[in-house]
Amino acid sequence: MSYRNGLNRTATKLDKPLSSSSNCNSSNGGKYLAPSPPPSSPAPAISKPGSPLHPTSASSRRTPQRTWKHDSGVSGRVRVAVRLRPRNAEEMVADADFADCVELQPELKRLTLRKNNWVSETYEFDEVLTDFSSQKRVYEVVAKPVLESVLEGYNGTVMAYGQTGTGKTFTLGRLGEEDIADRGIMVRAMEDILAGICPEQDSVTVSYLQLYMETVQDLLDPSKDNIPIVEDPKTGDVSLPGATVVEIRDQAGFVDLLQTGESNRFAANTKLNTESSRSHAILMVNIKKHVKVPVEDLDIPNENGLSMHKSKGSYPPTVRKSKLIIVDLAGSERVDKSGSEGLALEEAKSINLSLTALGKCINALADGKSHVPIRDSKLTRLLRDSFGGTARTSLVITIGPSPRHRGETMSTIMFGQRAMKIENMMKRREEFDYKSMCHKLGMELERCFAESERQNKLLLDVERKLEERLEETRRAEKNLECALEKMASERARHQKEHVEVLQNLEIERTERLRMENELQAAKSDMKNHKEVPEPSKDVNDEILELKLQLENERQSRQQAERELRILKSGVPSQYGNSESTEIMILSRRLENEIQRRTKLEDEIKRLQNQLSQATLELEVAKSSASGFTSFGLNSLKTPMIVNHNFESDLGHNLDTGRPQDHVGLQKLLSLLESQDVGIQVQAVKVVANLAAEEAHQEKIVEAGGLHHMLLLLRDSEDETIRRVAAGAIANLAMNERNQELIMSEGGIALLSRTADNAEDPQTLRMVAGAIANLCGNDKLQLKLRDDGGIKALLKMVNSRHSDVLAQVARGIANFAKCESRGVVQGSRMGRSLLIDEGALPWIVGNANNEASSIRRHIELALCHLAQQDVNARDLVAAGALRELVRISRECSREDIRMLARRLLAGSSIFQSELRRLHIVP
Ligand code: ADP
Ligand code: MG
Repeated sequence: MSYRNGLNRTATKLDKPLSSSSNCNSSNGGKYLAPSPPPSSPAPAISKPGSPLHPTSASSRRTPQRTWKHDSGVSGRVRVAVRLRPRNAEEMVADADFADCVELQPELKRLTLRKNNWVSETYEFDEVLTDFSSQKRVYEVVAKPVLESVLEGYNGTVMAYGQTGTGKTFTLGRLGEEDIADRGIMVRAMEDILAGICPEQDSVTVSYLQLYMETVQDLLDPSKDNIPIVEDPKTGDVSLPGATVVEIRDQAGFVDLLQTGESNRFAANTKLNTESSRSHAILMVNIKKHVKVPVEDLDIPNENGLSMHKSKGSYPPTVRKSKLIIVDLAGSERVDKSGSEGLALEEAKSINLSLTALGKCINALADGKSHVPIRDSKLTRLLRDSFGGTARTSLVITIGPSPRHRGETMSTIMFGQRAMKIENMMKRREEFDYKSMCHKLGMELERCFAESERQNKLLLDVERKLEERLEETRRAEKNLECALEKMASERARHQKEHVEVLQNLEIERTERLRMENELQAAKSDMKNHKEVPEPSKDVNDEILELKLQLENERQSRQQAERELRILKSGVPSQYGNSESTEIMILSRRLENEIQRRTKLEDEIKRLQNQLSQATLELEVAKSSASGFTSFGLNSLKTPMIVNHNFESDLGHNLDTGRPQDHVGLQKLLSLLESQDVGIQVQAVKVVANLAAEEAHQEKIVEAGGLHHMLLLLRDSEDETIRRVAAGAIANLAMNERNQELIMSEGGIALLSRTADNAEDPQTLRMVAGAIANLCGNDKLQLKLRDDGGIKALLKMVNSRHSDVLAQVARGIANFAKCESRGVVQGSRMGRSLLIDEGALPWIVGNANNEASSIRRHIELALCHLAQQDVNARDLVAAGALRELVRISRECSREDIRMLARRLLAGSSIFQSELRRLHIVP
């Protein structure tokens, strides 16, 4: 057929020669992978003398050239096998006396047709299948090579040609339901197809048709009884658009479909009152198979027809489309031969039209004629690709053995021989799988969109976070700026303060120098007077001397007075002038003496003042210069001595003012308000030390020092300051007036709070000492109790520190003494406030404390309590009697021992209790 080169390729069509292909079915993969030579390698027909047909160009067929060029196909001759049916029952009988008209030499692929007893012709075929060839072998030699090509993307045709009853349907259409060995080519072909595809992505569809009297009927849908044949003018593809197309999923489905087709064929033929042998049965199988073709094998044309070169190593999705046609032709016998059918001539012509046309086409092709009458029949139109086209075609011609049908057999053989001459140019149809590529790209695009969206979101998040960070940074910068500004102004302020402090220090230093100079001057003054070489010792000497002088003067004056008195008594008033004159002289002398004495007394007073001033200045100077160790402590009557361990802290950066100099004291007190705790500590220590001396106490209180100390107790957060302030208050509390002042300013509350917050027992000692001093004031007894003074004292015993306990004991003793004094004076009655406040157990418990500083105070307190009859029962109940007895026996102080004895003896309650206890005091 001349359309071999007329195939128009479209941009999407890929015609290419055999090449390696992939197959998802691994079991078959290897089988189809090799670029095998076309399975139907041509077998040359024997060119025999007298043979009516000579194969064309045997040499070129013998070595078929595989064309690997892109556009050219693979040369493949139509393969023809002959199959001999065994004698049937009728032939067994009818031809019993005759030999078969054919003789087969399958190993030589030869068939000899006996024309008569003398003449025979031998023909060579591609395969010669004997009457005992199995269906399997027939499939393998006839159909298998076609199937292999079909699965590689080539079109394929398997066709049976022969006289009715020679086994065409047996060869092609047996279903093998009873015996699977009987399965014909259709069933076996589908088995191979299904095994050779990948069901998930490939597809197999089937149409089953009957061509009868140039009408195409659908064997799968009898209602479709005139299906048109459509040819694509571009590709030359033939299709039957109206035909039912069934997708084949499995073998059983296909067998069902064949059965349906067969029964429909039977029904149709019954209806038309004809036989199946008059019609052609056509099974069309379309296969779409996805393969991966290495890119070097592919040039993908773009829409302009230009090649787009893909990068090497990639596998663009490719789909191979192939079509397998299996045709069970109508019987080849001439219809007109058997007039028994009673068909009209036209009808008979029509029945045979397709077959005749096929014969003509095959003749034309075999003879290499330029015109092939392909359009003469529907069959030739349907099979245009099978003979002289691009398909691999295999023809099985069936013959019977009976010599009675020699003519038909001959005709069949000749048909086969001519068909063997037809050369097809096999071309594969590979299409770039735009659909799946599109799908894939679509998915990729979706993924990209999603990814891009994600990235955008991430970007936005990051931007937002950055913005937040930036804002934070801005805020932090602003805060930093503010802080820096604040710091700068703070620094300026501090610098200013620093300068001021330095200036003040400088002033203080100058002042100190001035004072030192003054002191020095005073000392030298005193030395110059030669009355006292050293302020303390020399002035004392001077005073002694002056006292002596004064004493002398006094004695001489007394002497003079005595003389004067004697004179006055002995001499009457009328004494003469001489006596009066003497008296007057004596009186004058006396007056002089008196004046001199007054002068001396004044001088003594002045010197005493000077001495005191000098002593103080000396001490201050000493402490300023080297850190004083004790500030007149030895001379103090107070039990409260400001702790020696801080005194050495005083000094280098603090100059005390002159204490009796009001201005200096004020300055000192103003330092108590300093922001610098160190300065505060040192200032309060100086004040405390000054307060230790009675001489300074009044001035300190006058200058508001006491008030300051109380304020420190209240406000200072530094325990050292509070401790020293409490010490100062204790010192000031030696004075009765100050005691009242302390109480009126809420001192008890402040002291007891200080005690509550104290961590250092020395603080407690100071507080206890202060309260103990206050306890010695008769007028403050009730207020002291009301303000919680006794409670505070008793609370402090918890510290167990002997110094603290001694102060507590002293306070209690002071308090008890005042009480007993009040009772004696009749100013108070009732039970001791100490007992009311619950002090008795502690008193009794510590009456025999091993520390004498504690013991002697308590012993005294007990005695004072015992002195008041009203306390007697409580004392007895608390077990104080035994202690009193012990005191009366053992106390180291005799006066107390005696007092205790007296008390025991004097109280009837004590006496009866002693008797009860059988104690003899
Ligand atoms: P056709 O389709 O060519 O008219 P059939 O296939 O119907 O012929 O065969 C006719 C008869 O011959 C059937 O009964 C079939 O079973 C039998 N037959 C055909 N070929 C063979 C064979 N090779 N071996 C045994 N029986 C055969
Ligand atoms: Mg048949």
